[in-house]
Amino acid sequence: MPAPSAPDVLLIGGGIMSAHLGTMLKRLDPRLAIHVYEAADELARESSDGWNNAGTGHAGLCELNYTPPPATPGAPVDVTKAIEIFARFEQSRQFWSYAVTHGLAPRPADFIRAVPHLSFVRGAAQIAFLRARHAALSAHPFFRTMEFTADPAVIRQWTPLLIDGRADEPLAATKIDAGTDVNFGELSRQLLTWLGAQENCRVVTGQRVTHLRRTAADWELSVRDTATGESRPARARFVFIGAGGGTLPLLQSSGLPVAHGLAAFPIAGQWLVCENPAVVARHFAKVYGPPPPDSGALGGPHLDVRHLHGQRVLLFGPFATWTTQFLHRTGRLTDLPASLRPANLATLLRTGLHNRVLVRFLVQQALQSMDTRLRALRVFYPEADSADWRLVDAGIRVQALKKSDAGRLSFGTEVVTAPDGSLAALLGASPGASVAASIALQIIQTCFPENLRTTAGHARLKAMIPTFDLDLASPAATADHARRSAQIDAVLHLSPA
Ligand SMILES: Cc1cc2nc3c(=O)[nH]c(=O)nc-3n(C[C@H](O)[C@H](O)[C@H](O)COP(=O)(O)OP(=O)(O)OC[C@H]3O[C@@H](n4cnc5c(N)ncnc54)[C@H](O)[C@@H]3O)c2cc1C
Repeated sequence: MPAPSAPDVLLIGGGIMSAHLGTMLKRLDPRLAIHVYEAADELARESSDGWNNAGTGHAGLCELNYTPPPATPGAPVDVTKAIEIFARFEQSRQFWSYAVTHGLAPRPADFIRAVPHLSFVRGAAQIAFLRARHAALSAHPFFRTMEFTADPAVIRQWTPLLIDGRADEPLAATKIDAGTDVNFGELSRQLLTWLGAQENCRVVTGQRVTHLRRTAADWELSVRDTATGESRPARARFVFIGAGGGTLPLLQSSGLPVAHGLAAFPIAGQWLVCENPAVVARHFAKVYGPPPPDSGALGGPHLDVRHLHGQRVLLFGPFATWTTQFLHRTGRLTDLPASLRPANLATLLRTGLHNRVLVRFLVQQALQSMDTRLRALRVFYPEADSADWRLVDAGIRVQALKKSDAGRLSFGTEVVTAPDGSLAALLGASPGASVAASIALQIIQTCFPENLRTTAGHARLKAMIPTFDLDLASPAATADHARRSAQIDAVLHLSPA
């Protein structure tokens, strides 16, 4: 039977977010006709592509920006955010294990691996902070297996690159073996391939949505074929704008009040990459350092082992750089100027003024030489040889700026929805792909509540995400954590390194 031309659900963008929402909706209600329109010639080659992000399964294990140092030295470290991120990542793991078991993502070894997550600090103040962070986290069932050491010999056993050739100085690290490296691009492609093969579903590339308009009955979209340049209309009852950096312009074109005054602030990234097998073989971890003092909530640099397209490589970064493009592959330098409106200019300017230190940091980052980048790398890997490293582009984070933020930048992700639940859009970039299942869940709960009211619907979602209806930090959700987590590890073939 040919797929209907006016589906129930139309997903804009073939990245990790549409992949999760589309597959979860189809499993929740198998009758739904779902179409995915992707502008590029391939699926998931923007932010979700393996090279364009760090592939960290963000679970609050090693990222120091989720546990800010206390204002008063010696006070307990607030680990609320780390616990929340862990619980949300666990929902992704639950869904991925369901997806593997049910053939939605049949090849887990191609998209997820167990990789120890380390935090690494230097100097007395940072060591005291890391010790206090470890004490607070390891008291919680999620982080019980986290180890702390201030002994360089132990850190050397964990990963020798951090220690060899280093002058004597105070150091400390934490390690937890239950970390992951995820190829979100590969995962997206597996999920979308499954979706595209289902009855009444289509996943098409080379189709750019250029405009959307609310009609009395549904949404009407203009879709341009990028090969022929021809535009044609499409209609849908529900639209998800999962277009990554391309989301804001589409939201602006929707005319929804929520888009009024929204501005966008793109930050491109770059990595140092090492493919020398002799070096790569000596590092099997993701090692996160403290965020630089002026970097706001951007996060710290990290030295990561990655598994990309059958190859093991090391990445160091990200280094921020300035751009006016919203998309890495199909974006244009005019993206930022074209997004400016009288209603959002003040928001953008106020954010710039409010974040002068961050703007200066970004300018410094963009202007730095290869030598400066290598110096930053040698803080982690003192013996790094410049001949082993080259600079490559990463993805672009497009942070949405709201008038109501009064210039504050949070770098979070936010789901916005139309008041009648007929449209949802995802803004922002962090913690990003790792919490894709929890973001899809949030959209389903807001825009498809009727599907969850039935016993069958509730049971279907419970099968996909067993903790979906629990308070994630509650004893009920944490009590069974170890058993549930071990089951997921077995399905995803994750055994600690
Ligand atoms: C440097 C960097 C490091 C990161 N590290 C991590 C990490 O370690 N862990 C983590 O969890 N997250 C990380 N993230 C965030 C993560 O990559 C993103 O949150 C996630 O990939 C966003 O997925 P998405 O599906 O929303 O967008 P994307 O993957 O960008 O997909 C959007 C798709 O929409 C398409 N599109 C755009 N406009 C249109 C249009 N008009 N019509 C049709 N299609 C359109 C694009 O071509 C693209 O394929 C990182 C991001 C960056 C930039």
